[in-house]
Amino acid sequence: MRAVTLSALFGVSLWSAFAVCATSAAASPDPSADATFAEHVKVWTTKPEFINPLVDHLPLSTAAPSPREILGHDIGAPRVLDHYADILGYYRALAAKSGRVKIVETGQTEEGRPTVVVLISAEANMARLEENRRNVARLGDPRGLSEAQAQAIVATTKPMYLALGGLHSAETGPPEMLMELAYRLVTEDSPLIQKIRSNVIVAINPASDPDGRDRYTDWYYKNKIDDTNDLDPVPGSPYWGKYIFHDNNRDINYTGYSAQNLLKFYLEWRPPIIHDLHESVPFLYIFSGQPPQNPSLDPILFSELPWFSNFEMAKLKALGMPGVWDHGYVDAWSPGYVAFMSSNHNGLVRFYETFGNGGATTELRHVKPIDGPGQDFHAADQTRREWYRPDPPYETVEWSMRDNTNFMETGLLTALETTATFPQDIVEDFYKKSRNSVEDGRANPPFAFIIPGDQQDMTKAALVVNLLRNQGIEVGRAERQVTLKEGVFPAGSLIVKRNQPYGRLAKILLETQTFPDPKLRTYDDSAWTMGLMAHVKVIATADPTALDLPVKPVDRYVAEGRIAPEGAGAYAVLDNGSINLATLRYGLKDVAIRVVERGFSAQGVAVPKGSFIVAGTNYARLKGAVAGLGLTVVALPSKVEVSTHPAALPRLAIYSTWGATQNVGWVRYAFDQFKAPYDLIFKDELLKGDLRRKWDVIVLPSQGRTSKAFVFDIPVRGKPLPYEKSATFKFLGDYGSSPDIRGGMGLKGLELLRQFVAEGGTLITLGDTSAVPGEFGLAPDVEVSRPSKDFYAPGPIVSAEIAAPDNPLFYGYQERTMPVRWATNALFSVAARDKRLVLMSFPGGAKGVQSGLMNGADEVKDRPAIIDEPVGEGRILMFATNPVYRWQNFGEFRMLFNALFNYPQLELGVSGSLGDRAQPSASHAVSAR
Ligand SMILES: [Zn+2]
Repeated sequence: MRAVTLSALFGVSLWSAFAVCATSAAASPDPSADATFAEHVKVWTTKPEFINPLVDHLPLSTAAPSPREILGHDIGAPRVLDHYADILGYYRALAAKSGRVKIVETGQTEEGRPTVVVLISAEANMARLEENRRNVARLGDPRGLSEAQAQAIVATTKPMYLALGGLHSAETGPPEMLMELAYRLVTEDSPLIQKIRSNVIVAINPASDPDGRDRYTDWYYKNKIDDTNDLDPVPGSPYWGKYIFHDNNRDINYTGYSAQNLLKFYLEWRPPIIHDLHESVPFLYIFSGQPPQNPSLDPILFSELPWFSNFEMAKLKALGMPGVWDHGYVDAWSPGYVAFMSSNHNGLVRFYETFGNGGATTELRHVKPIDGPGQDFHAADQTRREWYRPDPPYETVEWSMRDNTNFMETGLLTALETTATFPQDIVEDFYKKSRNSVEDGRANPPFAFIIPGDQQDMTKAALVVNLLRNQGIEVGRAERQVTLKEGVFPAGSLIVKRNQPYGRLAKILLETQTFPDPKLRTYDDSAWTMGLMAHVKVIATADPTALDLPVKPVDRYVAEGRIAPEGAGAYAVLDNGSINLATLRYGLKDVAIRVVERGFSAQGVAVPKGSFIVAGTNYARLKGAVAGLGLTVVALPSKVEVSTHPAALPRLAIYSTWGATQNVGWVRYAFDQFKAPYDLIFKDELLKGDLRRKWDVIVLPSQGRTSKAFVFDIPVRGKPLPYEKSATFKFLGDYGSSPDIRGGMGLKGLELLRQFVAEGGTLITLGDTSAVPGEFGLAPDVEVSRPSKDFYAPGPIVSAEIAAPDNPLFYGYQERTMPVRWATNALFSVAARDKRLVLMSFPGGAKGVQSGLMNGADEVKDRPAIIDEPVGEGRILMFATNPVYRWQNFGEFRMLFNALFNYPQLELGVSGSLGDRAQPSASHAVSAR
């Protein structure tokens, strides 16, 4: 502490002169302190108050290699970022030399990089790691445990504190800092570090998106290393991981392999605390669980959050560090952030935002927002004093990677100090939250959630059940018919009882979200109700007898399909709304399939519209392709008259801007899951023209921004920004490549899209991209306006009403009204004479909100939700919804696939004449054998 106090008294220059000796004498009891390190961090830290005696030194050790020995640089070196293999190499070297380190292999990423968690603790703790793991597991499922037994286990159990770095690849500091922290924890013998080692098992996830770490590091060296202007920064790389950016922290259903691997690790080791290290706001923001809070979570959690954050604020201030604050940034409503894995499972979620430069280059940063149009580059002024920010960040600051490291490492050491000081309280809290979760389900409704086994499409129910199972939630199958207050449910229904350790999580995921206060804002979605998102019936029961229902535990749920025996002249694959029908279509791409236009009955079996008809000669192919898809295939009688048309397989392009690939990534992900092929194209491919010759359908996914930004994308200024593979930069140029990603499709690209449609192409727009055709005149009869400033709709689930139920878009949908996720900031309208263009609309109003928050719901009243406008020889199909929103709204996915398989017939079932452009459908006689 003395160094800081003196520096404050004598000012910067004096501080520089004696910092090394003062710190090594005052704070590092190890006489063999690393003088080179101390000199480096002194130079790299831009202000004396940005460093302190906890992190200004490192020991020289023969017991373990330092980061410099393995990586060739000290942590926080300007203009240096490490690739993932080097980071992993460091931890492996540490583990090879020290009995205090163990590496747990957890799997692989999409691109084949190994994922790991590094465990660090005193040798005595490492020797009984497995025993400790079993203890925590027992406390995490305390059913059958007496209070005395539980307390005995608590007394001998060490808490594990898991830190995640690099979930967001542009936030480059944490994966660097964690290596230094690991070395410090292994080698330093200060009282604090000894206490942490003795009382805590520190777990480190070195880079939570390893693929993104490598891609961004390459991008930094290629394009961003000389970037020093934070008012006009060079953009980041077009991709991090394979599909998504920031949404890997909104991936509520764990689609990313790294997230899945971490979840598996979590459920095995159950660390009571997960701390996710991010970068954004200055200088250090500590999540404290501000409102709106999710009331289904344990009250203990909301007491633990400020307990930690307040001590860290106090400690860092005492060390002289400015700009540390909590509250005022992120709330505790949505459970979809990765570190919520912990609080969702009765642990404690924590996260930091440390100020970062998007790389390791030191920059002059303008922290205070600059007034004026176009200059509002910070959402709020974080240099303002607030009750929760008594010593705000500076208005401008020279900021370095080492500054970032110092703040974050000091914070984390302080968090570990709390944990090491109260290890048994933390373990006991974890036990009590687990126990409370079981108790809450026993005492309070809903007592269980029922997923009836007789739903038309059980494949979407399987999606839901297996996502619950991935999270460790127990699901049972009723072997007999079930009678509850809410009704009678058939044998085979799935029961999620709430008197289980993860009963609270089941409630959070399955219940309808009632936003606590419409005046509050939330950082991400206000709704995520799984049943509504998936169009799966889920009934919350207030009947306590549900807890006593005999059920058979379900590990993985498989929706059973069946296929009639060989020998019929034709077969119908029933369309019960399964998305797997898409997989089947692509699996049989060289087989002629016809789509049923009007439902009929064949030998007592209802064959709904949208069903596929396949000739008996293709039985073997059909049987192979349908296996495992949970679909029902029936034989058709020899004579049946039914209107059908061919199931199309359009040549499909999905267009992406370079500046916003994330929402496109979700669509790519969904298409890959259902084995649906497509060409991913960017401006370079689009601007080559001749689009109609190459493709039948072009999809423009939501790109999360204005129409202008969609068209003109990354501004053409500064230097060209290549995204291409080379010998030096082998991680660039994946999932598209370009010699210069700036400029967008521009007006020329729009003109080519107009031509594509005029010549018979089908253009499909999703979410906010649907404003483009109206705003740029491609769809002449569609007007776009923007809601009032009072309108606020953070991802609620709202009602939509089908206007043209016989249109192929709605094959597989039985109900006229469906829940959809609100997906755009545009409001659409068409003239009264053009009402027939509207295929689906929002009833709007408060009654139209099924889950979550929509302020100003009246503004949505009777607005179009899907518009289909024929233009020239082609058409533009505009979804104001986003039929593929993250990996969540499975219930809407089919509308997009329906649009593809029926793209030449999108005028079917539209009331009113569309003139001579309507294509007649064929009456198809199924031939007798
Ligand atoms: Zn982040």
